[in-house]
Amino acid sequence: MAGVAALSLAAAPAQADELRDAVTADLPGLIALYEDLHANPELSFQEVETAKKLAARARALGFEVTEGVGKTGVVAVMRNGDGPTVMLRADMDGLPVIEQTGLPYASKRRAVPQSGIETGVMHACGHDTHMAGWVGTAQLLAARRDQWSGTLVMILQPAEEIGEGAKAMLDDGLYTRFPKPDYVLAFHDAAQAPAGMIGYANGFALANVDSVDIVVPGVGGHGAYPHTTKDPVVLASAIVMRLQTLVSRELNPTESAVVTVGSFQAGSKHNIIPDEARLQITVRSYSDAARKLLLDGIARIARGEAVAAGMPDDKMPRVSVADPYTPATFNTAALTQRVAALLAPRFEGRVKEVPAVMGGEDFSQFYRADRDNVESLILWVGGVRAEEWAKAEKGEITLPSLHSPFWAPDAPVVIATATEALTAATLDLMAKP
Ligand SMILES: [Zn+2]
Ligand SMILES: [Zn+2]
Repeated sequence: MAGVAALSLAAAPAQADELRDAVTADLPGLIALYEDLHANPELSFQEVETAKKLAARARALGFEVTEGVGKTGVVAVMRNGDGPTVMLRADMDGLPVIEQTGLPYASKRRAVPQSGIETGVMHACGHDTHMAGWVGTAQLLAARRDQWSGTLVMILQPAEEIGEGAKAMLDDGLYTRFPKPDYVLAFHDAAQAPAGMIGYANGFALANVDSVDIVVPGVGGHGAYPHTTKDPVVLASAIVMRLQTLVSRELNPTESAVVTVGSFQAGSKHNIIPDEARLQITVRSYSDAARKLLLDGIARIARGEAVAAGMPDDKMPRVSVADPYTPATFNTAALTQRVAALLAPRFEGRVKEVPAVMGGEDFSQFYRADRDNVESLILWVGGVRAEEWAKAEKGEITLPSLHSPFWAPDAPVVIATATEALTAATLDLMAKP
């Protein structure tokens, strides 16, 4: 499907130019909003000012707005006759990152995250572009009520970065207190694609993300008398090495997964065998079955290696899996193909099927909450400035990733592209019969 855009030379629909012109006219206002959001980021579940600011905008456009859904979330509903219910989502939170872009509207904000240690705050994931695109789309759809029929639900989700915000909104009645969507759509800016490109994965788009902690007990003692101890450093090392076989030897090789031990802590001094080691592991997968295989395997290996090391039953490793986890994001086939076919001629040469990535997004929750009745799609919108992309292609620079203190997307292009794409998709899904 990567060639879809190139094949389509048909004239764009009459609406295309009108819509693009409207986006262009709205863009200066959206950029001003973006710069304000960028300069004033808020951490997960602290998006109080952000929510208030954007709720007021939605209210002014004629939406019924409810604040405080899932702590700081916002739900804006516009009922416009019979037809499908379409939900558009933007996430609001920034990250505990000290901005180093040098932009005139760079964030100087500080705040205290869950860790309890004060830090700088930055929209290093581009959620500010998502919110500006969300407002842009809301404006265009509100002004075109005569062109669509159905119920539009526009939500601002908190706490994506800690994987809890989508679940918090669902647990607070997103699908029971408000109209339940037939379609849910969102976009995410992309740090590894040129500005204005639209990427879509067909099927899995982002991974299951699990955080696993293992406490490995030992029996401590003098480093010179190891025979009087049970060394947890050696045992935990054996666990780390054996974990490498989960993906290489147990998972079907046509499936993708990652088991990374990101932290290994033990001991305090050369000549002391400690009485405990601790491992922190990130586990990435796509299917529920692969996830189960990996998590079961981690528990089995930890125990098996402890038995092999001669640990007694009451000193088996303790394995804990963080709950809730971030489930894999899935783009459903019919919606994905419909939107891709719609956008390809409109954005000629800029729409491309892309592979899934091992990052995580709790946008997944909106589909998983009712897999039989909800169709879902998240689009990537490339954000790398043309001149930087050209340099990177020549190997002259390395591009910063999302979450980097240097990530500075080409915001006008991202916002314009996303606003037009989401508006066009929604108008298509809610077209009057
Ligand atoms: Zn992020
Ligand atoms: Zn993000």
